[in-house]
Amino acid sequence: MVNVVAPVQPDPGADPAEDFDDPAAGTAPHTLRIVNATPPIDLPGAERAVRALLIALGQDPEAEHLRQTPRRVAGAYAELLTPRDFDLTTFANDENYDQLVLACGIPFQSLCEHHLLPFHGVAHVGYLPDQRIVGLSKLARVLERFARGLQVQERLTQQVADCLQAHLHPKGVGVVLEAEHQCMSLRGVRAHGSRTLTSALHGHLRIDPAARQEFFALTRDR
Ligand code: ZN
Repeated sequence: MVNVVAPVQPDPGADPAEDFDDPAAGTAPHTLRIVNATPPIDLPGAERAVRALLIALGQDPEAEHLRQTPRRVAGAYAELLTPRDFDLTTFANDENYDQLVLACGIPFQSLCEHHLLPFHGVAHVGYLPDQRIVGLSKLARVLERFARGLQVQERLTQQVADCLQAHLHPKGVGVVLEAEHQCMSLRGVRAHGSRTLTSALHGHLRIDPAARQEFFALTRDR
């Protein structure tokens, strides 16, 4: 079973590019320090809340095997919700490379904001270079930066595309996310193995049918 949600429209409420300045012109490498701008996590408060949740769920938080659970759960969520700082360095496109750059099958995980359950899968992230290029590993870092938070897959897809568009100013950006949501596979409809596909496109990859077709052909069977 495959749910297709494509293409995704921009979320007017999201401001994913807030950490990014205009890209530097010229030939020198340009680095932006991408820092975590989310509020700090109140670990003791989270532990108390998990303990209260255990009690509400009819569990005994003093039972031997549950005694450390509030601490572990709070720590796990803190890790999943804290983006890691990183440097996003772009370089002048000295070779005037003008074909698609595509990183395929990047694994990712995030947390569904509706159920606080994980969704995980792979991403295909590509761009058509203009003046600047970026290291391939940074495409994965941009994805991870937005995946570490409470998310819906549609918004995560759009944020990655918007971020690359805002910082790289490429001729086009394409992002495809393919994920299994545990809130769908473990509970509710129990649609185990179902995948949700989302895509977000900018520039030529959005408006040029041939470029768009090439992008989806390259990402389709991966
Ligand atoms: Zn969910």
